Amino acid sequence: MRVHLVNPSDVSFGTAVITPRWLYVLATATPAAFGTPMIVDETLEPFDPDAVEAGDVVGIGIHTGNALRGYEVGGVARARGAYVVFGGIHSTLYPDEVRERGGAHAVVRGDGDLVWPDVLTDFVAGTPRPLYEGGRIDGESFLPARWDLLPEGKYMWGSVQTVRGCPKHCSFCSVWRTDGQKPRQRHVASVIREIVELRRRGFRFVLLADDNFYPVTLGDLAAAERQARTAAESASGGAGSSDPASSPRLDALRALRAERFELMARLAELPDDMIFYTQITMEAAEDPEFLAAMRRARIRGALVGVESVTPEGLKAVFKNFNDAGDALVTRLQAFRAHGVHVLGSFIFGLPTDQPSTFDATADLAQRAGVSFAQFVMLTPFPGTVDFAKWEATAAAGVTRKGVPLSRYWLIPSSQRPKVYAPHPLMSAEQIREGTQYVWDRFYRLAAIWQRSDCVRSMRSRLAFLLISKLYRQMYANTGIATDSARVTRSARRARWLAKAARRLFVTTPMPELQEPASLRALRDSKRLAVRVVT
Ligand code: SF4
Repeated sequence: MRVHLVNPSDVSFGTAVITPRWLYVLATATPAAFGTPMIVDETLEPFDPDAVEAGDVVGIGIHTGNALRGYEVGGVARARGAYVVFGGIHSTLYPDEVRERGGAHAVVRGDGDLVWPDVLTDFVAGTPRPLYEGGRIDGESFLPARWDLLPEGKYMWGSVQTVRGCPKHCSFCSVWRTDGQKPRQRHVASVIREIVELRRRGFRFVLLADDNFYPVTLGDLAAAERQARTAAESASGGAGSSDPASSPRLDALRALRAERFELMARLAELPDDMIFYTQITMEAAEDPEFLAAMRRARIRGALVGVESVTPEGLKAVFKNFNDAGDALVTRLQAFRAHGVHVLGSFIFGLPTDQPSTFDATADLAQRAGVSFAQFVMLTPFPGTVDFAKWEATAAAGVTRKGVPLSRYWLIPSSQRPKVYAPHPLMSAEQIREGTQYVWDRFYRLAAIWQRSDCVRSMRSRLAFLLISKLYRQMYANTGIATDSARVTRSARRARWLAKAARRLFVTTPMPELQEPASLRALRDSKRLAVRVVT
């Protein structure tokens, strides 16, 4: 019996930017008695059914975007006599669909880190269950990845997770509902140990693959302080108190924040050719102390969900904590002033958008000094507030290609609609064309070259240009285009560009690299952060 772990994808590029972490974490979770899992990342090469034999276990992780391909793989594996197990966000939300469409014998909901050994043991004992609840494990229990299983020369960036969950509640996002609103931070020492291992293997660019790297804002602390003072005052009969504010919630928030700073201090001690990248909310721009720590830690890039450039658009997606207009430009520039390059994420197709929104967004992205940008069309993703509303209204009773529109991921990707919700002013095609236009405009050669002045050397500017083009080929043309010839051409170009770009990111391995000495002391000390009381 052999264990296979498959990351499904319709498009394979031969080289990928980021290591798909879940595959290598489940490899760690696989007990030694079951041998070394065979890992298949279809963003590199397609799954080979001949590698599966009767009695093998095939684990497939899916999100909504790759669910249909995952179902194909599951069906093929089951037909070959394998025991098929699905996990991932989409399986968590639709376990019945996964059984019907993907040939799943078992489905894992929630985090797979701790429950995966039970799945394998039950299968071998002949007592498999149809459903396993992985739940939301605490940060202490997050497993490291088995990077020793990485194929040589295939990935550009390593990936490490430091926190799961996000306290916000954006209407288009499922993270806060699936991973929860309580941040679960991993111990600093485990994070650093894993990054050291990646650097030993030659990865100097590492993605901190977090839901939100800034889980405690200055606003959260101020609000908790106010609550603590009010509680203290009412306890003392309104006499007031000169003691510093304190409450279990405030202490927990302070501890979480302190642990972020501890992590960044340790990152700063790693070899100075290392560069980190993360995902963060815009509120961090108002926290100079945090930005300064990011700079010292060499966190040089961050994906920031800008979403909309107007206050009405932000209100529509429950993201009022973002700024719009000139204030937005100022906030985004604050990141750049601290050496953090922003990958701005913008959504088109919000009910408040107008035909002029496309140019306004492209102008703002350039003016704000955003280094990279992605422009996505509003898509109702399962597990989100938007999806529930859309499913009950616009999508109710509508079918496409014989499939209910509210299950659009079951429509083959070449025939799948690009825009789902009717817009009060624009047709679906206008929104698609407008989005494509903004990608084209933002990634014009001249515009990229102008933006590349954020780095100094000619080599760095060329790297910036190459990665900008690669990003656009991988994400814009293969995702937005309706013309299949254009998609194929783009995938071919991306394949070539990715191979060239990889050389710029990976460097000479440092097999002798040791963990920073300060880490040993940290490991021995009591953990800094504990729980958030919500
Ligand atoms: S979009 Fe970002 S900030 Fe909003 S809930 Fe999702 S992870 Fe949190």
